[in-house]
Amino acid sequence: MGKESNYVRVMIHCPVTGRGIPTGLTAEASTWQARPIGLNRVSCPACKQIHAWSKPDAHLEGAGGS
Ligand SMILES: [Zn+2]
Repeated sequence: MGKESNYVRVMIHCPVTGRGIPTGLTAEASTWQARPIGLNRVSCPACKQIHAWSKPDAHLEGAGGS
C-alpha cells in the first residue's frame, strides 16, 4: 500500500494546437503498457473541440514530451 503516487495523467496531443492535453484518465507507468484502452473522446481544453483518441495517440505525462 501507499504507492498511489505512481499514477500520472494520460495525455494526448491536440491535433489543432499541438499542445499536450490531459485525457482525464490516469495510469501507472508500470501497468500502462499492458493496459487495454479502447476508443475514447476528450473535450479539449486547448481548442474547445472534441477529439477522438485511442491508445497509440496517448502517452503518460512526463514521458515523451508535453
Ligand atoms: Zn484540441
